[in-house]
Amino acid sequence: MVKANTHFCVTCGAQFPPAAAAPEACPICSDERQYIGHEGQQWTTLAELRARHRARIEEVEPGLVGIGIEPSFAIGQRALLVEHLLWDCIPLVDDAIDAAIEAAGGIGTIAISHPHYYTGMVEWAARFEARVLLHERDREWITRSSARIELWSGDRCRISENLELVRLGGHFPGGTVCLWRAGAAGRGALLSGDIVQVVSDRDWVSFMWSYPNLVPLPGAEVERIAAVVATLEFDRIYGAWWDRVVAADAKVKVARSAARYLDALRRVRE
Ligand SMILES: [Zn+2]
Ligand SMILES: [Zn+2]
Repeated sequence: MVKANTHFCVTCGAQFPPAAAAPEACPICSDERQYIGHEGQQWTTLAELRARHRARIEEVEPGLVGIGIEPSFAIGQRALLVEHLLWDCIPLVDDAIDAAIEAAGGIGTIAISHPHYYTGMVEWAARFEARVLLHERDREWITRSSARIELWSGDRCRISENLELVRLGGHFPGGTVCLWRAGAAGRGALLSGDIVQVVSDRDWVSFMWSYPNLVPLPGAEVERIAAVVATLEFDRIYGAWWDRVVAADAKVKVARSAARYLDALRRVRE
């Protein structure tokens, strides 16, 4: 008998339901916002991931713990653990992660910015007995269903006094950021995935429809996103990777980044 495995897409890290054979294609990577590697669709399993990778777990500020994978796998994002919320997700779960989650008192909710980080959410939800909160506008990209997944709709979803999901759209219709009001010593932190993308110098951000394929968002979308962000109180942004953090004055930096983006689009037309 062939053993059933849950396969992971090597390019985006999405996990699929248990099956003897790998799926034919990954719908997330077949979409124009992602890509299939030049060597064709590749798959791996949780056992292979555990054999080749390990967890990197680090406190990034008091009350906020990053959880990533070393060496990097798929898109390479790190998740964030804050007040029993796992923000975004990674494919790997292992003993070191178990211990970190236990030390933090467990996970009640897993909330994810957009489908590129859905990855191992169902595996995580089962292991830590958590619910998964996803925006209903992105439901078509769920590659492994579970009774633990709860879809939310509209533009705001309050998780607790300190934590609120805000739909910004853009990169995906359900693209969501999480406002952590107690973050940055009470000045507020925005956990942004790549819905608001922190760029290399960490003093600016950008907004794209596809990052790997370098396809921008229309100016009107960026204007709309900037207007929503302007209503939120925060001083810091945690992007999708360890080093993508706007440490201070992040709200002003989002506004000036949106203005720079819109100026660039105007220059193209002149
Ligand atoms: Zn994929
Ligand atoms: Zn993405």
